[in-house]
This record gives sequence, C-alpha cells and structure tokens, in this order.
Amino acid sequence: MKNKTTHLIECKNVSLSYDGNCVLENANFYVDRGDYLCIVGENGSGKSTLVKALLSLKKVSQGEIIFASDVGCKKIGYLPQRTNVQKDFPATVREVVLSGCLGTSLSPIWSLSDKLKADRNMERLGIGDIAGRCFRDLSGGQQQRALLARALCAAGSILLLDEPTAGLDPIVTKEMYRILEELNREEGMTIIMVSHDFDAAMRYATKILHLERSVKFFGARDEYMESDVFGRWGNDRGL
Ligand code: ADP
Repeated sequence: MKNKTTHLIECKNVSLSYDGNCVLENANFYVDRGDYLCIVGENGSGKSTLVKALLSLKKVSQGEIIFASDVGCKKIGYLPQRTNVQKDFPATVREVVLSGCLGTSLSPIWSLSDKLKADRNMERLGIGDIAGRCFRDLSGGQQQRALLARALCAAGSILLLDEPTAGLDPIVTKEMYRILEELNREEGMTIIMVSHDFDAAMRYATKILHLERSVKFFGARDEYMESDVFGRWGNDRGL
C-alpha cells in the first residue's frame, strides 16, 4: 500500500546519491499548501539534486517522497535554471508557453483548453502582446516571464523554481519576486524556490530549508533567523 501524508509533499529520511556517493543524507521536511519555501545552502550542498528528486527525475537511494493524494510530481510547474540553450530557443512565446501544457493531458495535440490556459497565463504575466514574437529575440526579463507562464501551464498549485532570478538585472529581479509573491498570497500558489539570493529568501519565504549535504535547518523563516545556522551563514557573508 502507498504511504500517505497529511502534507502536500513530505520527504522522509530521503538520501540522494550519484554512483553510490551520497550528496544529501537523511533529509526530513515537508511542504504545506500555500507555503513559500526557500531552499538555501552553499554550492554543492544538494539543492538541485533535491529539485530533481521532487520532480521524479532522480530516484531516491533511501527514504521516500510522498505527495498528497490529489497532487503528484506531474502537477508541479517547474522553472529550471536559465541556460544558453533556452535563451536561443527558436520558437514563439506562445509555443514556449503552450509546451508547458504537454503532459497535462493524454493527447499530444494542444486542446482548446490548453490554448486558453496558455493565453490566460501570458495575460497574467503581462506578455500577451508579445505572444507571436520569437523567444530568442526577447529581453532576459521577458524570457523569464514566458518561462514562468510555461511553468504555470504545467502547475496544479505548486511552482518549483531553481534560481529564478540568476542573471537578471535588479529591476527585472524585483519584478519577478513581485509576481511570485502575488501568486503565493493572492492565488494560494505553493512556491518552492532554490535561491542564492539571501535577502530575497529572508524577505519572501515563510519556511526555510537549509542544506549542507544534510538538513541543517528546516522550519519557519523567523525561527531560522534566530538560529545558529543562520548566524554562521550570515557571518560567512559578512552580514
Ligand atoms: P547545489 O544545487 O546545491 O549546488 P547539486 O545538487 O548540484 O548542489 O550537487 C550536489 C553534489 O552532487 C555536488 O558535489 C555535485 O558535484 C554532485 N553532482 C551533481 N550532479 C551530479 C551528477 N550528474 N553526477 C555526479 N555528481 C553530481
């Protein structure tokens, strides 16, 4: 029988490895509906590997990741780290956004409801007027909005973002955080975000997961800010 959880997502004693080398050991944490969880930690601490595991792109070597019965990894809208390949994608904004609908139905062809969903998400992110433009000709901020609209097409009520503001200028970064805050507060979207942006994590997150190849802290943001882990992390950054 499949294990159940009272949370939206629960990680129980999860270990993750590459070729037998453990990169995240015995992680325990959970995500509830409406949370804004920031995953922080140094490079190499296991954040992206955990993201892959949450998306079922990587098998856990021990433990289990349990989803609430009405969700599953397929209902997570994923915004990956920006890559040069993505930036040069030879498709229109509409096609990029619509591709987020793939996998949400059994049909390989976009249905009318997929098209309406894509249109709604482009409007929601203020890119409806550039739907016909080629993705690679857009500014970094517009590209990131298009990719967020794509993730929203795939999302049930969970967005998973890996460094969503990396490489964006400060104005576009602020705008991105405003959009995410609005989705979280006004639409109840659950947000899980890997972030190197310490200030933003402390400002927007309701919960923090701090990794250093194991869980060093998991809990409410305010408790984290009182913790030794936060003190050490802040000192290392001269805060
Ligand atoms: P973070 O996202 O926190 O920077 P990662 O999850 O990318 O950390 O990496 C954790 C560890 O796993 C690092 O030591 C990294 O070198 C290693 N690692 C990541 N991806 C692979 C891979 N595909 N094969 C082998 N080792 C990997």
